[in-house]
Amino acid sequence: MTACDVAIVGAGPYGLSVAAHLRAANGLDIRVFGEPMSFWERHMPKWMLLRSPLAGSHLSDPDKALTLQAYQAATGKAITAPLPLSRFIDYGRWFQSQVVPDTDPRKVECIDKNGFGFRLLLEGGEVWKARRVIVAAGIETFAWKPEEFWHVPRELASHSCDHCDLSRFAEKKVAVIGAGQSALESAALLHEAGAEVEVLARAPFVRWLWRQKWFHTFQPVARLLYAPPDVGQAGLSHLVARPNLFRRLPRSTQDRWGKRAIRPAGAAWLHPRCEPIRITTGRAVTSAVPRGGRLTLTLNDGTSRHVDYALLATGYRVDIARYPFLASPLLKAIPRVDGYPKLNDRFECSVPGLHFLGAPAARSFGPLMRFVAGAEFASRNLTRGVLGNVKSNSLHN
Ligand SMILES: Cc1cc2nc3c(=O)[nH]c(=O)nc-3n(C[C@H](O)[C@H](O)[C@H](O)COP(=O)(O)OP(=O)(O)OC[C@H]3O[C@@H](n4cnc5c(N)ncnc54)[C@H](O)[C@@H]3O)c2cc1C
Repeated sequence: MTACDVAIVGAGPYGLSVAAHLRAANGLDIRVFGEPMSFWERHMPKWMLLRSPLAGSHLSDPDKALTLQAYQAATGKAITAPLPLSRFIDYGRWFQSQVVPDTDPRKVECIDKNGFGFRLLLEGGEVWKARRVIVAAGIETFAWKPEEFWHVPRELASHSCDHCDLSRFAEKKVAVIGAGQSALESAALLHEAGAEVEVLARAPFVRWLWRQKWFHTFQPVARLLYAPPDVGQAGLSHLVARPNLFRRLPRSTQDRWGKRAIRPAGAAWLHPRCEPIRITTGRAVTSAVPRGGRLTLTLNDGTSRHVDYALLATGYRVDIARYPFLASPLLKAIPRVDGYPKLNDRFECSVPGLHFLGAPAARSFGPLMRFVAGAEFASRNLTRGVLGNVKSNSLHN
């Protein structure tokens, strides 16, 4: 059995950022498991543009030496806004090559507690032990489908995260379910790829962000209204950008404002691309019935649609019980609320040495944790906490 001090599960923005901070802190043997930036490459549409501004799209290292601008200077590859997905993936992999070139691409199949700390079973059968485990495994397993589609075969309907190449739907009639950025951008990309698209949304209208671009760009007004990660509405954005402040609000306020900050909306630059697309709002799908190789969708106004495919851009619901790698005795030992683990200041759950980063930390630290921009706060705080422990608990053997 091979051993390390800290095992990081997942090599996305959070896993890579925390690895950069911990590695810089000297002396700890850190291992990162998982394929770098694989969620972004395999589960987002190829021609997507990031909705986050550039200021909210840096991975984090302690000296801020590996920003998007540093990547541009080092590689000569241009950074433009909005940032194309392929460039962001390339940036993530460049970051990884600088901080954890020895990332182990194998998946972690099972994590269990043992006397030493944790036991990790890797894809292929190798077993590792680690004093600490940082779960930075992202949201893929949290993809949520409405009940009406549970029985529909994947050939007729699937979650948006099941696709990275929407060109396969050229000439097809596709219903996109949802009203957020993912639904609207998928609809635009489908239309541009030659599909006949209709967006079906329960919401009474589609919310477009940044219609008043002026508010976001004209200084000093923009700075007063929005913090750089630009998550949440004017004013609220500053609170969201300060997780330590956000988490001190009364629980009911955190819940209410947390939801408000991430309500479904489309970026303003997407608006003109969606203009040629039929968008039907205020309608819910009440049934989805496969018929002769196609799908009949019945809506709550009694009308129906006959389509070749339904693309479900219906979001993600955090529930760590859906991480397939947490062994049941370990999972049972983690107190959860609505699927989220309860975390302390250093992102650790009540099982000592087990940390969660990214979306699972959003109930404890607010909506910033759902975005790349949250990696800075999370990595710094977790590292500070772990180093404090290294001294007192002597993490090394
Ligand atoms: C369509 C779409 C667009 C988005 N656009 C933006 C945006 O513009 N800006 C923004 O900030 N956020 C955006 N997000 C949210 C984005 O997903 C998160 O901000 C980001 O991925 C969080 O990083 P992460 O490291 O937590 O997760 P991920 O990037 O998902 O990384 C987790 C990694 O862990 C790996 N993993 C999982 N299980 C295991 C295992 N058992 N063993 C090893 N590895 C494992 C996964 O394969 C994955 O590579 C978007 C999300 C979607 C779906």
